[in-house]
Amino acid sequence: MADAIRKLVRRLGPRKVSTDQALVALYAREPSGLQGRAWAVVFPESEDDVRVIARTAYETDTPIYPQGSATSLSGNAVPENGIVVSFERMNRILEVNIIDGNVVVEPGVRLDDLNTVLEREGYMFPVDPASSAVATVGGAINNGAGGLRGAKYGTMREWVLGVNIVLADSEGTLLRLGCRTVKCRQGYDLTRLIVGSEGTLGLVTRAILRIAPLPEDTVYALAFFPGLDSLMGAFTALRRSRINPFMLEFMDSKTVEYASRHLDLPYTPKGDMLLVGIEVNREAAQRVLKDLENLLADHGAERIITAHGVEEARRKHLFTVRKNLFAGQAGLTLDRAGPGRRIRVMIEDIVVPPSRVPEAVKRIRELESKYGLTVFLGGHIGDGNLHPAVGIVEGVDDPQVVEEWFKDVMRIAVQLGGTVSAEHGIGLLKKEGLRYDLESRGSLKALSLMAEIKRVFDPKGLLNPGKLV
Ligand SMILES: Cc1cc2nc3c(=O)[nH]c(=O)nc-3n(C[C@H](O)[C@H](O)[C@H](O)COP(=O)(O)OP(=O)(O)OC[C@H]3O[C@@H](n4cnc5c(N)ncnc54)[C@H](O)[C@@H]3O)c2cc1C
Repeated sequence: MADAIRKLVRRLGPRKVSTDQALVALYAREPSGLQGRAWAVVFPESEDDVRVIARTAYETDTPIYPQGSATSLSGNAVPENGIVVSFERMNRILEVNIIDGNVVVEPGVRLDDLNTVLEREGYMFPVDPASSAVATVGGAINNGAGGLRGAKYGTMREWVLGVNIVLADSEGTLLRLGCRTVKCRQGYDLTRLIVGSEGTLGLVTRAILRIAPLPEDTVYALAFFPGLDSLMGAFTALRRSRINPFMLEFMDSKTVEYASRHLDLPYTPKGDMLLVGIEVNREAAQRVLKDLENLLADHGAERIITAHGVEEARRKHLFTVRKNLFAGQAGLTLDRAGPGRRIRVMIEDIVVPPSRVPEAVKRIRELESKYGLTVFLGGHIGDGNLHPAVGIVEGVDDPQVVEEWFKDVMRIAVQLGGTVSAEHGIGLLKKEGLRYDLESRGSLKALSLMAEIKRVFDPKGLLNPGKLV
């Protein structure tokens, strides 16, 4: 360890390496409450710095834990002895190419900052996790992130055209993968392999991302239902209609209550909540909004708040409760913990075909009584992605019970034709779930192929060890 740190300080300069343990501890944790440990945090400022770090790690057998903003929720970014490589100083937007429909960026660029720049040009980067204020391009690529526009725009998989990666080998080899064009054949698709690889194959130092024009206009509705059955009726009707929302989010009444406790809102959030966003032509806006309102009311919505355009939706706080989903879950657990006790939040990220969402929700609710747990339920219902969550207070709750519940929820997803992670990744918490999924498809061999791929890219197993495979 001392050898690695000494070499890094000598090669990069002391300003780029910190061994201050108070600071290191801050870089060793995730919002879910998982806490790891590391020897140092290294702050590269260029591709060359990253190559030096990779080479030094290889020479000294030092594990590397790449990190954007560490907002992962499955243990993806938690270190376990080694160095954290924080990409926060590599945060430049290098090119905005409107005619080509892409941007070239460094990995530490935050998604909201990218969108602030693109909005001036009438464009957007559509992948918008609820953490977009801090989530970075490098983290989103490596987690295969999705977000609130997922119902129409999907996940990072659809939006990454190319990446530069540095390998953890004796040279710190730099590979420039992918193209600046949508059409691109370069043999096996290594760019796609990096998307969702959770920092286990290479260090992403640059990315070419597709961008999309901002829609001409948008309309939104936030609806509160007296029960999940009526909400699911509205959801199914929306999927059947040709409206094709880009945003279709939900939260159950308990989660709504907790998420909005400390919020100053212009409406009273009460009931099971559905948030719908639709892209429209300007002339069609009022008609589509009326049709949407009618559909929601016909399915029993008791309260509907509408907005024309994103500015009005923000002013009316239509997104606020949904964006607070995780904070609500953490808040309830903190309340139970009282002062001084540590907490964790075990949040699922399952996905099922949208037609199976009502059944998934029913079965998840049944588990609540089986395990005697308070389960928070919400997620990106439009693409079948649900985030049921349970809080654990250390010394009060039995983590084993929660772990059993966690496994049962993943089993439900697989049994309904889905899988255990839609966008958060496998990390530490879903490795068993991944195995179960592949096994039940008769494809366990895929796990050994993944382990072989990992060995080819990272022969010493230095990149984010213990994660995913
Ligand atoms: C409140 C909250 C809401 C969230 N909502 C969503 C959501 O709606 N949708 C969603 O998909 N996710 C969501 N997440 C999860 C997470 O925020 C996203 O996946 C986000 O994209 C991660 O970005 P990050 O910069 O924090 O990455 P990190 O957590 O720092 O890293 C993610 C992974 O990428 C690796 N990595 C990071 N940078 C690099 C690099 N340059 N090279 C190689 N590997 C790298 C890390 O090792 C880790 O495995 C949410 C999290 C929170 C706390």
